Amino acid sequence: MSTLVMKFGGASVGAAPALAQVLKIIAREADQWDKVLVVVSALDGVTDMLLDAAQLARIANQRGYRRIAANLRSRHFAIMEELPLDRSERDTLEADIDQLLSEMLDHCLQIAGSLNVELSPLNSDAVVAVGERLSARIIAALLRQNGLRSAAVDGTDVLVTDDVFGNANPDLHLTARRVDQVIKPMLQRDIIPIVTGFIGATAQGETTTLGRGGTDYTASVLGALLEADELWLWTDVDGMMSADPRELANARVIPTLTYAEAADLAYFGARILHARMIAPLAQRALPLRIKNIAAPEKTGTLVSGAAPPDKPIIKAVTSTQGLSLRRPASGSLAGVTRLVGNTLFKTLGMRSEVLIASQSSNGSFLCLVIPTSIGIDGVDRLEQALKAKMAEYPEKMPWAIEAIGLVTAIGADLHCAPQLLAQALEALADLEIYGLALGASNSSLTLALPLQSSREALQRIHELIVKSG
Ligand code: ASP
Ligand code: MG
Repeated sequence: MSTLVMKFGGASVGAAPALAQVLKIIAREADQWDKVLVVVSALDGVTDMLLDAAQLARIANQRGYRRIAANLRSRHFAIMEELPLDRSERDTLEADIDQLLSEMLDHCLQIAGSLNVELSPLNSDAVVAVGERLSARIIAALLRQNGLRSAAVDGTDVLVTDDVFGNANPDLHLTARRVDQVIKPMLQRDIIPIVTGFIGATAQGETTTLGRGGTDYTASVLGALLEADELWLWTDVDGMMSADPRELANARVIPTLTYAEAADLAYFGARILHARMIAPLAQRALPLRIKNIAAPEKTGTLVSGAAPPDKPIIKAVTSTQGLSLRRPASGSLAGVTRLVGNTLFKTLGMRSEVLIASQSSNGSFLCLVIPTSIGIDGVDRLEQALKAKMAEYPEKMPWAIEAIGLVTAIGADLHCAPQLLAQALEALADLEIYGLALGASNSSLTLALPLQSSREALQRIHELIVKSG
């Protein structure tokens, strides 16, 4: 019995021509595999619009969030108009879309009516979850219209998560039971479930989201629990790249990665994968392919349990942001680490790791990775929150905080290749480096640098990759 799980991101489902391609791919793979399950994101840009709506609701700007609901309605209706759907599919879909948008408006009204000055992630999750519920219904209708048995499934009925709203984690044990109850009977009846990515619910039934880009994570959890043979992520690039192609034009596709390499790539800034999605795959040795929806014949990138090459190589370089904390004296790091951890959790609903901690007789230095999934303003928000918190204890916390750049070289077994590490450092000879760390899985070397030199460092390390063949 062969099972394939496929995930389609927002760009793949964002317009009618792209949806035609999604349909073609699903139809073809449904022929090749015994069972196919599909996980989808909201249409391109929709999650951002919903987050804006929740923010507008917070300041009780009713016109603002109503306008967003109206835009969402016309965007989804326009896509539907372009699809070859018959009258009855169209009528049901229109009713579903209106129903979901009215639920969204109810949640906004609730936020507007509450006295909270801050928007709680609990409230914004309920609004944001509507995006995936809309797109999943459109795709299921399109499949049915083309003779495939299919039904939309809400992740809230399947993924049971903790209550870290905005960045929740599925409980694999509880979710497995739901997979047995909801998903497996559908697969047995040859129905292709179109599951909403990114969203889940607590055991009490409150809607949660898994962090930005969380559709990947949904797909990996479901793939693992279904003991699927493969998981394919369809994106708009040819695979995982040696660097972000928007930053470096000569970035190229990486044919194969180990799980540890892929996990470090995602954790240290490659936005193409959700950072926590690799663990469930690695545990079950479930191979992951990343493929270009516009060029399905290309092999893309394969992430698997295959052994890395004997001779370590640097395969990719990424950059992300971090925070550094510095004080002009040696002192205990435990207190400040706790304070930073708690503030991060309160401000952004997530934990972060101390990447580098160093001390000398006349100074202490700490460096933290800021998870990419918090979005662009997350670093600022955290920096402000930390400064405010530390100002409460001026004597105990004389730390200077600075946003910094983290540039990471990815390659398995880097700890066995000092000559490779030397090459990377040599390439950065004239740049100031605050600190460096080997990743716990020995698949990455991260350098902490001033923000303004991180791009230069990224470029130079990428040159090494290009030169090496
Ligand atoms: N729609 C969500 C987001 O924009 C989840 C995803 O696309 O994976 O972050
Ligand atoms: Mg993504």
